[in-house]
Amino acid sequence: MDAENAEQRIVSLKLSLLENAYDSLNESLAKVAQAAEDPGQWKFAVLNLVHALELLLKHRLHEEHRLLLFENVDRPNRTVSLERALERLRSVEVTIEPRDVAAIDQAIKWRNAITHYETDLLIHEVRENYLLIFEFLDSFHLTHFQGGLTQHLSVANAPTAAQMVQEFRSEFVEFQGRSMHRSWPHKLLTAQKYPEVSCEGIIFQRIHWGRESHWEETRREGYVPREHCRDCGCRLGELHGPGCCVEECPRCGDQFTYCDCDLESDGLWDLLPPISEEGLEALETPEE
Ligand SMILES: [Zn+2]
Ligand SMILES: [Zn+2]
Repeated sequence: MDAENAEQRIVSLKLSLLENAYDSLNESLAKVAQAAEDPGQWKFAVLNLVHALELLLKHRLHEEHRLLLFENVDRPNRTVSLERALERLRSVEVTIEPRDVAAIDQAIKWRNAITHYETDLLIHEVRENYLLIFEFLDSFHLTHFQGGLTQHLSVANAPTAAQMVQEFRSEFVEFQGRSMHRSWPHKLLTAQKYPEVSCEGIIFQRIHWGRESHWEETRREGYVPREHCRDCGCRLGELHGPGCCVEECPRCGDQFTYCDCDLESDGLWDLLPPISEEGLEALETPEE
């Protein structure tokens, strides 16, 4: 590839990043509107939203330096993943607040959950996380690009977007430096009251955030846990919130909430949301 061609390719990639981001966002909002009637549409709403987020982060990276967009700067043919885009933005000192990192982490988590484990999804959780990610996208766009997102939305989608922002404002609170659904702080605090679980008469102490020893990342050299758990938002040294995917099982070392240990607790499991059968069915219905 000669220099001129490479230059052209990078310019057209830049244009397509932004245009595709707005396309995905519009597609996502259209799915949100459809989800009112058909909850199964939430998964497509989230996938499109995370795609829009990924493209916007990449576009921001491109503005910093076009080569940052590529996995390998010597061979600019594959662009970076969402995870890598976030890492790079932080390493070139583009300000991403801890609460924004949390929103991006949730975006990655939900995209993976939808892609790999869709049967475990709960509609209300999907919706709450949609609000969190959407709000981040909106404020990120406002901070880093000219103008708000609204001007890039189709007329049909603008009311849905306005509704998302309004719902976010009425349902989310700041707690311990993070945005979380207003139902969450109480559960997080209550989870601290259950430090023990048992299995076949043997008592196990739950593992506090930062003291995990089985996760791959915790065994990496120089590993320092973050101030807040990326999933539940508990602080370092605290117990995780109910259903947190980061909590390690004290018996088998696997995921506490999903392992096969059959752990008993006098109240911890009651904090988990009840599974809505309708919601599950809707998500499990295969695409036509
Ligand atoms: Zn946690
Ligand atoms: Zn276990």
